[in-house]
Amino acid sequence: MTDLPANTIPIINTERLWARHMEMAKIGVVEKTGNCRLALTPEDIEARTLFAHWCGDAGMEVKCDRAGNMFAIRPGRNPARGAVAAGSHLDTQPHGGRFDGISGVLTALEVIETLNDAGFETDAPLMVINWTNEEGVRFAPGILGSAWFAGRIDDETLDETLSTDGKRFADEAAASGWRGTKTPVDLPMEAFFELHIEQGPVLEDAGADIGVVTTVQGLSWLDVRVTGMDAHAGTTPLAARRDALLASGAMLVALNKMGRDIGEDARVSVGRLTTATDGPSTVVGAAEFVIDIRHPDQKVIDHMQTECARVCIAVAQEYGVEARVSVRFGIPPTQFDQSCIDALESAVKGLQLPYRRMASGALHDAANIAAKVPTAMIFIPCRDGISHNIAEYATKEHLAAGCNVLLRAMLTKAG
Ligand SMILES: [Zn+2]
Repeated sequence: MTDLPANTIPIINTERLWARHMEMAKIGVVEKTGNCRLALTPEDIEARTLFAHWCGDAGMEVKCDRAGNMFAIRPGRNPARGAVAAGSHLDTQPHGGRFDGISGVLTALEVIETLNDAGFETDAPLMVINWTNEEGVRFAPGILGSAWFAGRIDDETLDETLSTDGKRFADEAAASGWRGTKTPVDLPMEAFFELHIEQGPVLEDAGADIGVVTTVQGLSWLDVRVTGMDAHAGTTPLAARRDALLASGAMLVALNKMGRDIGEDARVSVGRLTTATDGPSTVVGAAEFVIDIRHPDQKVIDHMQTECARVCIAVAQEYGVEARVSVRFGIPPTQFDQSCIDALESAVKGLQLPYRRMASGALHDAANIAAKVPTAMIFIPCRDGISHNIAEYATKEHLAAGCNVLLRAMLTKAG
């Protein structure tokens, strides 16, 4: 790896980068400062169209794969080389912000436009990527497009993934107009970088402008089915009930305690619970929920899976119901590539920005891609650590700082 002479490296256009964020944020507005663009909905499709339009203006051709992932390519001097890529996602949470994911795509685009303005050629091709369905709200689980690209799920699993409104992923991707035929073999990559807002308070508290992300904690989802018996809320004595919702509530409390006992790096959450009946006067006979487990150490994740099953079954016995626990999906902890981390660190030092090395608490597309391509991530601060919230905010200056780091790291890798 060679460091480029500092005086030859272009500086990104801060105002253009900010203006693109504000333009993108006009699609799917929620309560003025928020966005709702669930994957492959009309809002997501509009965002894709705008992004593709900007890529076209920057002289790039956009290609798509089976998962609807979008790849905009700027050719290099050496077509035999794989691309040095960067990107993230344009879909959002239902009450999402203007920066989560979007900043990773738009900073990558800004790198290309800056190099175009400066007439700067690279040896390797450069690529800007929008991964499909990162948020996993409409199609669970999340980081779906990158999981398929990295070979972590097969074609059938991708195609048959159902949306919350009962539609097949394959049909929705085709109907969106963004399902293509490219495969990972057609889109070789030498490196992948993802810039993202931190979504936590660490950088802000430390007064750092940049986080160089070295690892991503692992995740596991467990499906829990609780079966009791439907009953009349007026005639069935409390002691005679087999209440699946009440038992689920007790399981949630016990799971939280189990997580706290394991240690401060452990995360155990239940964000979705559904009941088979939905009436105020019916004792619930069946309920389902998903446990989200996270930890930086796979051995601890394995242990937590066992503990979750033990806790649910013990509570079920106490409440006279049955609990079945199964593993739906897991992603092991990710260690990012040392040469990509080095490229980021030397960029940060060249720009004399305060930074820290850190682990990512959230999962990102980069965690999937790292299984296949040398990868690392850049974090920038977000105000009060707030994300998945319409109040999410990153400053123009932090976006620009992160974008300049991204540009330098991409140049280091692309030559
Ligand atoms: Zn994100």
